[in-house]
Amino acid sequence: MTLSLSSRHEWVRKSELRAMSVECERVGGVNLSQGVCDLAVPAPVAEAAKAAIDKGENSYSRHDGTGPLRNALADKYRRRAGLDIDPETNVVVSSGATGALYCSCLALLEPGDEVILFEPYYSYHESTLIATEAVPVFVSTKAPDWSFSMDDLEKVVTDRTRAIIVNTPSNPSGKVWTRDELELIADFSRRHDLFVFTDEIYEHFIFDDMKHISAASLPGMWERTITISGLSKTFSITGWRIGYAICDAKWAKAIGNFSDLVYVCAPTPLQAGAAAGIVELNDEYFDKLAAKYRKKREVLCAALSDVGLTPCVPQGAYYVLADASSLPGADSKERAMYLLEKTGVASVPGKSFFKSAEGETMLRFCFAKEDDVIEDACRRLQGLKTEHARAG
Ligand code: PMP
Repeated sequence: MTLSLSSRHEWVRKSELRAMSVECERVGGVNLSQGVCDLAVPAPVAEAAKAAIDKGENSYSRHDGTGPLRNALADKYRRRAGLDIDPETNVVVSSGATGALYCSCLALLEPGDEVILFEPYYSYHESTLIATEAVPVFVSTKAPDWSFSMDDLEKVVTDRTRAIIVNTPSNPSGKVWTRDELELIADFSRRHDLFVFTDEIYEHFIFDDMKHISAASLPGMWERTITISGLSKTFSITGWRIGYAICDAKWAKAIGNFSDLVYVCAPTPLQAGAAAGIVELNDEYFDKLAAKYRKKREVLCAALSDVGLTPCVPQGAYYVLADASSLPGADSKERAMYLLEKTGVASVPGKSFFKSAEGETMLRFCFAKEDDVIEDACRRLQGLKTEHARAG
């Protein structure tokens, strides 16, 4: 037989994240590796989706989303970001933020185009670029606030640079980008004529006094910014696959055409649920959501500190990167496996988020879990103290 896999198959590797979930299951541990929300779906969202199925809204929708969802999103961005969105031409509903980014890359990047990615990065961003034949170029940010300078950007820019990806709040670092940082990106992208792809899926998970800012709302940025987000996290519906891109009509049309080709449409009755949630759930719902996650962050970060896994306390999203250099192991995978074997707590090895060696001493923990799961993990982490005492 001469049949073989395509040369492309190597471009998309199985993530370390799934591997850790499998290991966690094997030892019956607590899985803080995966970013899956265990929280209940808000009633208006679930009820509107069920009602849509009962009413027979089960066929394909318009390829770029149902009218009610596009209208709800346009209103939301008018209200939150001051953007004058036309629901007919500026919104593309797709299969999650993941699908929206994939289609945006297919529509806007040439093979070989270089795209700047900040390290630590979300591995799907890197893989999406590679799968669409773009070339990720990395800029390191420095813990604990994950800072960078214009100089860092200027060093990597070439005449093939076409875009830059901003993830705010960020997975895995929890960094919430400030207006000053976004203005720096705006200045840089205008000077080098770049697209800015923003992944804002954690926009409602913001702690302390930080504020979410959409890069598209900065002066002169609308035309070059592709705002990507979704409802997976906000409504705890990761399996529903509802996300979107918001951008100028000249880009949205082509992004929509690719989304049509790959997905045809997002699930129609589930779009009804998402639209109802955006319309019916007010700021109070989102404030409560953020407060709930802030409490989880506090509990987990305190437990990590207590056992010597010093956390970089996140300002947003629901992950924490912790310094695991006190754990034995030649790399972050061995450290994560040590922690799992000794305490039954699964994390993601830092190497999944870094190109440089910096990630080898870090682990990522997810706190999008029910309180009792987090408490169980915190109790188990205490086991490290016994291990340290035994070793020391
Ligand atoms: N972007 C980021 C930064 C994420 O962390 C995730 C989920 N892990 C996604 C996108 C996925 O979003 P969706 O479910 O809408 O595809």
